[in-house]
Amino acid sequence: MSNVIPFNKPYLTGKEGHYIYQAVLSGKISGDGIFTRRCHEFFEKRFGFRKCLLTTSCTDALEMAALLINIQPGDEVIMPSYTFVSTSNAFVLRGAKIVFCDSRKDHPGIDEDAIEALVTERTRAIVPVHYAGIACDMDKIMDVAARHNLYVIEDAAQGIDSYFTGRSGIRQPLGSIGHMAAFSFHETKNIMSGEGGMLVINDDRFSGRAEIIREKGTNRSQFFRGEVDKYGWVDIGSSFLPSDIIAAFLYAQLENLEDIQKRRKVIWNTYNEALMPLKEKGLLQLPVIPPFASNNAHMYYVVFKSLEQRNEVVKMLKESNIYAVFHYLSLHKSPYYTDKHDGRELPEADRYTDCLLRLPMYYELDEADILKTVAIITSVLDPQP
Ligand SMILES: *Cc1c(COP(=O)(O)O)cnc(C)c1O
Repeated sequence: MSNVIPFNKPYLTGKEGHYIYQAVLSGKISGDGIFTRRCHEFFEKRFGFRKCLLTTSCTDALEMAALLINIQPGDEVIMPSYTFVSTSNAFVLRGAKIVFCDSRKDHPGIDEDAIEALVTERTRAIVPVHYAGIACDMDKIMDVAARHNLYVIEDAAQGIDSYFTGRSGIRQPLGSIGHMAAFSFHETKNIMSGEGGMLVINDDRFSGRAEIIREKGTNRSQFFRGEVDKYGWVDIGSSFLPSDIIAAFLYAQLENLEDIQKRRKVIWNTYNEALMPLKEKGLLQLPVIPPFASNNAHMYYVVFKSLEQRNEVVKMLKESNIYAVFHYLSLHKSPYYTDKHDGRELPEADRYTDCLLRLPMYYELDEADILKTVAIITSVLDPQP
């Protein structure tokens, strides 16, 4: 039997167990221990984020953001339909109405030019998703937000170590541009801790309350800094902070960020070069990196011409033990939201739902496996080249 090529295989740097052991020996393995602090410092120093708070997931970070901007029932939030449920759920939990926006034709990210027409007097926030770690045009989005006094929460779940270079000419890390941003360290992301996430706060007005919301609505963080002599219940909140064991795992990954990114980019480029002939013949759509964006090699995806073609490729790959997977199902057509959606057609979101396929992508994937995958795709799309 030929060996299996899974879709994802979590990469271990080798130091994870060691750091977890250190965390355990430190005697403090609840939240905000030594390794959580190290992770916060790493992110703040390397990416210049104003304030970082590790959370147990990106989902939690998004929920915190919705609480922090005080979303109330009936408020409207604009986001792409082609995204993960958590982007939406975080705001729906607070009673928001989601106004879904279509994707770009050349990329599954939000169509920045379609956002402003969706703004009403009830709109409170825009939530761009940096799909595949490729930046949305944040100049356009921040301009719309400024004109209408809206918050921008970046869903940067896939956006670690990726950048936006807009009209300022400054290369800005994703997650540093909106009022807040949410990152994921789920095992399918470039840098991971199994489950894990982070809220980035770029607007100081939210910093104090973020600590409180993350600590069950108490001012426990201030107490530990000696700023108050007892702590109590001062606001609403929940338990959003991870154990220091999770942070210890994450820190081992962060120390190897450079190496992980380098390897993933090699894999991404190998796919891209091998698939280019099919694109040049007009047989499929490949990822596009706009001039303002960078590539963090989070994902390699292709977009076929039809659902039938995608199904055929998935079947052929599976017969060779290669596991490629499609991605989101448009949220505006989801069983939960379809009757709450305002009925607008979002054809690009539907097209990516039907036709996009993510190819295996992980540190240990070797060139032969990539070329084998591409050969099978080629055999379906272009049988007699
Ligand atoms: C992975 C992901 C999430 C959820 O992250 P968790 O850490 O699993 O909660 C949210 N949004 C996007 C765009 C993602 O890719």
